[in-house]
Amino acid sequence: MVNKQALLQRWHALCAELESDHVTMLAVSKYAPDEAVQCLIDAGQMDFGESRAQNLRDRALQFPSVRWHMIGPLQKNKAKYIARHAAMWHSVEDIETARAVAGHVSDRRLPVLVQVNVADIGHQHGVSPDAVASLLSELEKLPALQVIGLMCMAPRQGDAHACFAALRSLRDGLLNRSLDAYASQQPSRSGAPGSESSGLSLCMGMSGDYRIAIAEGADMVRLGSGLFDAG
Ligand SMILES: *Cc1c(COP(=O)(O)O)cnc(C)c1O
Repeated sequence: MVNKQALLQRWHALCAELESDHVTMLAVSKYAPDEAVQCLIDAGQMDFGESRAQNLRDRALQFPSVRWHMIGPLQKNKAKYIARHAAMWHSVEDIETARAVAGHVSDRRLPVLVQVNVADIGHQHGVSPDAVASLLSELEKLPALQVIGLMCMAPRQGDAHACFAALRSLRDGLLNRSLDAYASQQPSRSGAPGSESSGLSLCMGMSGDYRIAIAEGADMVRLGSGLFDAG
């Protein structure tokens, strides 16, 4: 049994907190029952995250009025589920899987984020910071996918603050680089917009560290246990 009153209380409190920082909340429902998902949809939650492709497909079919975000690692043979049913794909980490998904996208551009293994830890998903720029230029050749930002997870034993700050400065560096390319084609550098007009969003922060992520400039946070679990 879902304690709906307590769930709604947590949701309202989180909404109020995030709204003041203009941060979007992804409700990560991978361990949540349908009843809890329906309760939040009725309350007005629009964005949900699932980490398994089949579960995303099933829930997108069951709850078509809201947006379903793919946040987990993806196997190529599940590419079509994401191409057809995901509102956004947060965990792009290799060009082969990206091509597989792009091949199944029709009649739209699928917004995607590149997942970065910021601390470059072997067992963590995501591309190493050094490889982000070249993956981005490969992704540019896939018009079915629209890169709108970067995503990361802080290492379980590690400095979340440093991790999120590193993703932010990686993003800022990429933007400065594209601005440099832009400025070099112009007669004058004056008038080039500042890097704070961010062309790449940051999706970072989970229940345990979202406040740190927001302080470091997160545009979207992914909340599972802190939203759905009591206590
Ligand atoms: C499960 C999951 C979350 C949510 O984690 P909580 O600590 O429960 O908030 C966020 N991001 C990803 C990629 C996840 O798999």
